[in-house]
Amino acid sequence: RTRTSAELIRAEEPVLAHNYHPLPVVVARAEGTWVEDVEGKRYLDMLAGYSALNFGHRHPALVEAAHRQLDQLTLTSRAFHNDRLAEFAERLGELTGLDMVLPMNTGAEAVESGIKVARKWAYDVKGVPADRATIVVAAENFHGRTTTIVSFSTDETARAGFGPFTPGFRIVPYNDLAALEEAVDETTAAVLIEPIQGEAGVVIPDEGYLAGVRELTRRKGCLFIADEIQSGLGRTGRTLAVEHEDVVPDVLLLGKALGGGIVPVSAVVARREVLGVLHPGEHGSTFGGNPLAAAVGTAVVGLLETGEFQRRAADLGVVLRDGLTELVGRGVLGFRSRGLWAGVDVDPAIGTGREISERLMREGVLVKDTHGSTIRLAPPLTITAEELRSALAALEKVLV
Ligand code: PLP
Repeated sequence: RTRTSAELIRAEEPVLAHNYHPLPVVVARAEGTWVEDVEGKRYLDMLAGYSALNFGHRHPALVEAAHRQLDQLTLTSRAFHNDRLAEFAERLGELTGLDMVLPMNTGAEAVESGIKVARKWAYDVKGVPADRATIVVAAENFHGRTTTIVSFSTDETARAGFGPFTPGFRIVPYNDLAALEEAVDETTAAVLIEPIQGEAGVVIPDEGYLAGVRELTRRKGCLFIADEIQSGLGRTGRTLAVEHEDVVPDVLLLGKALGGGIVPVSAVVARREVLGVLHPGEHGSTFGGNPLAAAVGTAVVGLLETGEFQRRAADLGVVLRDGLTELVGRGVLGFRSRGLWAGVDVDPAIGTGREISERLMREGVLVKDTHGSTIRLAPPLTITAEELRSALAALEKVLV
């Protein structure tokens, strides 16, 4: 007998670490924008795996690429070459306007790798004295969960109990060029920021900030690392969020949607002078760059090369923005959006983000709160205007 949703939720409790507090829905199947629970109830997915499912669940082109590769070769380790990696790196470089790729698996690994590369660059190229390199980051950042990454988090829940922490980070307010100017000095290897802060509630910096970071890092002689793990690969209406200000960073961190929601794929993408600092034995990963990941990642790049998904995000972003504008003053205090990505601040008198998410779940719409009374909307970029309007109608209905 197959277990019910309620039984499966109860069964998890004693045997799974409690580091998440999922909504009480047990998903068993999915296609496109829709997921289905164990009992067969359907939900519109307005979270899209925190943007890992930008192309929807099981996009046919991605599933086909994965199936084809499963029948050929899945893992070699980097002890040997595999026949899929060259094309993945070539096409990802072309898509992003950068030269070289360091393939990894998860977002946090890409961030860790970016930090290591920046430090190595600071010592080998910039001439920072040994062990003195600093990296400047923004308050309210989210870059992942490893010990080094939580060392420069400003979220006490993410940090408390996990020290001692990695030194070498300076934290400045986000969206504040004057503070950045003051923090960057001759020891600075890099400025590491999210072009839009996702977990912070889809916080969009003022126009000119990203171009300002680019100008400042160039003038001061340090690297600009853009963490586009959540903002990149079509979400904001462009391939990369930095493109809204015509900025090319020195180092780009990608993850989530790069694996098409099928396999974990992340990458550090950079100019040759930067990634060229790594030599054999200095960094690696058993699974990074495996042929299955490369095949799916190449298929993802193929989807983005068409421009269709970026266009959909830009066009439907207008529907999303207009719909949310209608709700301001009617349960919504304010919102920030770019493309198919929005942080919506609900009036706390109506409910916490968690309560709103639970009400939406009962209406057949899946979202996730960020913190407090903010919810995040980030549907698959394959969503139709009609589906998007139905999600907005459900939101309107639960804001009472
Ligand atoms: N960086 C950003 C901007 C993210 O949003 C995330 C995940 O939410 C990460 C890094 C970490 O990615 P992962 O969960 O794959 O380690």
